[in-house]
Amino acid sequence: MKQLAIAVWEGLVALVYPKSCIGCRQNLWSQERVLCLACSIDLPYTHYHHISENETTARFAGRLQFVRATSLFYLVKDGTVEALLHQFKYNNNKPIGVWMAVKLASALKKTDWATGIDYIIPIPLHHKKQSKRGFNQSEIIAQELSSQLSIALLNTAVKRVINTDSQTTKSRMQRSENLRNAFQLNIDSGKLVGKHVLLLDDVLTTGATIEACALVLAQIPDLKISIATIGIAT
Ligand SMILES: [Zn+2]
Repeated sequence: MKQLAIAVWEGLVALVYPKSCIGCRQNLWSQERVLCLACSIDLPYTHYHHISENETTARFAGRLQFVRATSLFYLVKDGTVEALLHQFKYNNNKPIGVWMAVKLASALKKTDWATGIDYIIPIPLHHKKQSKRGFNQSEIIAQELSSQLSIALLNTAVKRVINTDSQTTKSRMQRSENLRNAFQLNIDSGKLVGKHVLLLDDVLTTGATIEACALVLAQIPDLKISIATIGIAT
């Protein structure tokens, strides 16, 4: 009976987690999740949460006021983190998003990085893009981070009103203009006066999207903003 229960449980686990390593494609041992031990050990952690001035803070320096900024992993082309994010976003593998959020939470918990943060706000997707993908990847990460760190999730504070991805025909200037207007405050700003929010996204590249979202929130008096992403593109 016990063995049957274990078999049923392992069957359920196998349904949500892939059986082979996302990094190297080798079969996983039954205790391993998502990555094999070797690929786990090789994950390119930035350790930026220990470094107050890092490459993530550098990308926002001079563009907006913020308290702290960090990214968990270097995102290298064809690397393991790229494979993880791809499985999560384009193969609808939400457990990988949750798994990455747990990694981010356990890194942040080792320091006082998240101390004093009142809300976690995931960067919103435009509703058309979200219904096409079926979910907002940043929201999945933010939900798990919220429960791991016991910080409230606020996923409706900002709304994405322009679908900037559908504008490939527009000029570069028009696109950056559109990105500047892409977000709107969608909350009674009084609720956030004097609060400290953590803006969360899956990947940091140029930072333009996070910046546009943060600038909308920055209109709120005495609001403090920190930023975290899973990957930083190198
Ligand atoms: Zn592996």
